Parts: sequence; C-alpha cells; structure tokens
Amino acid sequence: MSTFPFAPRSYDFAEYIDCHNYIGGAWVPAAAGASMPVLNPRHGKVMGHVTLSTRDDIDAAVAAAEAALPGWQATPIKERAQIMFRLKELMERDREELAWLVSHENGKDMAQAYGDVNKGIECVEFGCALPNLAQGEQLDVSRGINCRVQYEPLGVVAGVTPFNFPCMVPLWMIPQALTAGNCFLLKPSEQLPYSALKLAVLLEEAGLPKGVLNIVNGGREAVEALCDHPGVSAFGFVGSTKVAKLTYARAAAGAKRALCLGGAKNHLVVVPDADPELTAQTLVASAYGCAGQRCMAASVVIAVGDVQAIIDRTVEIAAGMTLGEDMGSIINHLSLGRITGYIDQAEQQGVKILLDGRGATVPGAEGGYWVGPTILDNVTADMPAGCDEIFGPVLSIIRVDTLDEAIAIENANPYGNAAAIFTTSGRVAEYATQRFNAGMTGVNIGVPVPREPFSFGGWNDSKIGHGDMTGYDGFRFWTRARKVTTRWAVSKDATWMS
Ligand code: NAD
Repeated sequence: MSTFPFAPRSYDFAEYIDCHNYIGGAWVPAAAGASMPVLNPRHGKVMGHVTLSTRDDIDAAVAAAEAALPGWQATPIKERAQIMFRLKELMERDREELAWLVSHENGKDMAQAYGDVNKGIECVEFGCALPNLAQGEQLDVSRGINCRVQYEPLGVVAGVTPFNFPCMVPLWMIPQALTAGNCFLLKPSEQLPYSALKLAVLLEEAGLPKGVLNIVNGGREAVEALCDHPGVSAFGFVGSTKVAKLTYARAAAGAKRALCLGGAKNHLVVVPDADPELTAQTLVASAYGCAGQRCMAASVVIAVGDVQAIIDRTVEIAAGMTLGEDMGSIINHLSLGRITGYIDQAEQQGVKILLDGRGATVPGAEGGYWVGPTILDNVTADMPAGCDEIFGPVLSIIRVDTLDEAIAIENANPYGNAAAIFTTSGRVAEYATQRFNAGMTGVNIGVPVPREPFSFGGWNDSKIGHGDMTGYDGFRFWTRARKVTTRWAVSKDATWMS
C-alpha cells in the first residue's frame, strides 16, 4: 500500500507512492514513461519507483520555468523571501516526517536524518536573510560620479544533487537561487527522490508560484540535457569528482556558469598533546556519522608520534556502536561491494584491521546494505585505502613521526575538501591550518563545515569552478552584477572621468 503524505514513523519497511516530475506545478511522469525502482537501503527492498526524464522532459521543465520567470522576477525580493520564511515554518512543522523520509530513502539513523533536515532548515534561514544582504554596493568614485552595483537573477538555472543528503543539499542551492529571483530546475539523485518531492510540496504550500521550482527526475540523460539546454543559464552540481568534471566541462562548453562540487579524502591529524577523549569521540562521530557517506567525513587519521591511547579509545568507542541505531546503512549493494573490496584489498596488503565491519547485519533488516565501523591501521598514503575516496564507514590510520610528514601526506592528496588538526597547542593548530591543502580546515573539529552565513566549498579535485556553494557566495553564484555609473552634476574641478 502506498502512503502519502508520508506516514511511516519507524524503521519498518514501508512502500511509497511513485515519484513523478514536478513541472509547472503539476506532477507528471516522464514523457517516455521509463522509471526505475527506489530502494529502502535499510531493508534492501523497493519502496517505490522514480520516473526517468529525457530531453523532452527537460524541454518541458525549462518552458514552464521560462513562463514563470517574468512574474517571479517582478516580485520584490522581500516578498520572495517571505516564501522562505513560510518554508522554514513548514519544515519545522513537518520535521519528523521529513526525517523519516530521509531515513527511509537514504538509510540514515534518525539522529543523522534529523541532522540532514535541521541543516536544510538553516540553509532556508539564509534565504530568509537575503533582503538584508542583497542590497548591492555604491560609492562616489569621482567628483560627482557614482558607481552602483546591483545583483540580478540569471533567469532559469539548474542544480543536480547526490544521494547522501537528500534534504540538505538541494537546500544549498534553492533558497539563494529562488530568493534572488531565478526559476530553478532541480535534478535530485535518482536513488532517493522523495525528500525533493516533499520540498516541492512544502514550497507549493508556502505560496511559491507554479513553474518557479521544477523537479526533473532521472539520471545521466537528464543531467546532460540540463548541461546542454540553451535556456539554462547556470548549473550547480554536487556529487563525485568524476561527474563534477564531466558536467563542468559540458556546461562550460555551452558558456554556462558552472560550479561543481566533487568528492573528498579528508585527513584528520592527531598529535600527542591532543585531548584524548574529545579527539576519540570526534574521530568516531566524523568517520561513522551517515555511515561515512559524507563528503566531510574523516577518512584518514594521520597519527603523529605516540597517540596510541587515543587510537585505542577510538577503537573502543567505535566497537561500542550499535549498527542500525547509532549508524545507518550503506546506500546500495554496489557501494557495499566497493567498501568491502577496499577492506579486503587492504587486508591483502598487510594492513592491520583493528575493527572489521564486514559481514555485519541488523536483526529485522537482514536484507539491507550493512558495513559496521571499520578501522585499518598501518595504512600508507599510496595504498588505495590511504588515497581513494571509499565513501563508507572505514577509517584508515597512517602513522608518521612528525607534523611536517603528516602535512606533506595531506598536501599530496588530489582532493582538498577538509582537513583538521587535533591539538591543545595554538601554535601547532595555526601551523597546520595554514599549511593544509584543503578549502575547509578545522581545529579539534571532525566535520569542519562552515555553517551559514559562511560559504561551503573545497579546493582541488573537491571543487571544479569558482566560488563556493552556500552562504553569500551561493547568492553571488546565482546572480550577475549590473554596474551603473551616473553623473547628475558637473563640478568645476571635475576629473578625467567627466
Ligand atoms: P554521483 O556523482 O554518482 O551522482 C551525483 C549526481 O550526478 C546524481 O544526481 C546523478 O544522477 C548524476 N550523475 C551520475 N552519473 C552521471 C553521469 N555520468 N553524467 C551526468 N550525471 C550523472 O554522486 P553520488 O554517488 O550520488 O554522491 C556521492 C558523491 O558525492 C561522493 O563522491 C561525495 O564526496 C560527493 N559529495 C560531495 C559534496 C561536496 O560538497 N563536495 C557533498 C555531498 C556529496
């Protein structure tokens, strides 16, 4: 039996309605009629089906957005922001429903599912604040001459999102893009389309005019059509580095503005003067929150010198986690195979397995995709477990003698999303944070996400394009600057600009 609104309030398996496109305010299947199953990863069972868009569907969504654009752009920003205020209220009203939805389609435990929703609400709050931030700038640049910069919407813009934060990541883009006056096309991950569906339902209830937000479901074909469509002015992407590079190149080939966030391999450096309990607790929370399926997750601990007591305590805390309660499932059987393959390979390479999550299961959810917390010791930076993005609950420990060796290993990795140092010394903290080759660095923080109003974005292979995704940088990405220079009086001592 399908359920709508989304009634389930437990980890039990439940079926959902099929997920269609949302175009011009109507729920419609893709024109070609193809669909694919959506799995509940905790149970490994089909919870519904999602429609798969082709170019015809993208054309229809762009046309709906273009039709809505004049009215939306003519709406004052303070009125557009009121939609965000109402969305925030509605998300708070339906917080529990949203969190269960995230858990059912992604496999997250409820604490992490609430985190996804709560952080999404924080992103919406930034959209609410935009009328107070978006006024532009002006200056008298010469005698009698004034320059003014105003930020204007780009038109119809698009965003493509990954599976790991089905509520939050779409909200990295939607509040800024819509409040700035654009019409938005969202292509959520085809693996979990339900949170996006719910966001569209809430935005409609909040009073968003039809066609301002459109959701086009599907996979590669839909994404490529968005990159290619001449009616789409800007393209935002969050996902793996491979696809970030492909889509950036494709969007840029059509002279679109593009910002494509990619994968990560995040290094947490632990030195002997680190606070043992805080460090161990933080490493565990970073490595195993969202089952390690976080672009900001701790993936490598670089242990400098003798930090054995901290490693022992980390293993102890991780071993005490209850799978299915403290940590959710992996997204699908392909990820399960990839993650356990990395552990198998590390074992064959002689790595010491301090904690082994292979073969784990959860009573009552035996059909799901499970890997328990895993810790690999004596990994080297050139091993796949030491340099590849595993994207699962696997923490690799690399042992070194000096902080400079640790920094050199971090610097050499092609990614550059996050890096953190664990120390009680301000001098050591400053030394490391100023030398990490990563866009988001932390001190005694396992997930150094710059929360609003700060902007989110890595460096190197973790981000293709200029600027950052959230906060004020997000507003700048979805707008263009009009520069107006005026003279209304001529003074006697006017300059060359006269
Ligand atoms: P993915 O790259 O496989 O998919 C992301 C999106 O791209 C999906 O909507 C998918 O439909 C689409 N897509 C997939 N293959 C495509 C192709 N060949 N051409 C065009 N579109 C394609 O990523 P995922 O598995 O959904 O998410 C996990 C990845 O996302 C990890 O690498 C993770 O680090 C990354 N991620 C990065 C950030 C960040 O801020 N840097 C945040 C979240 C997730």
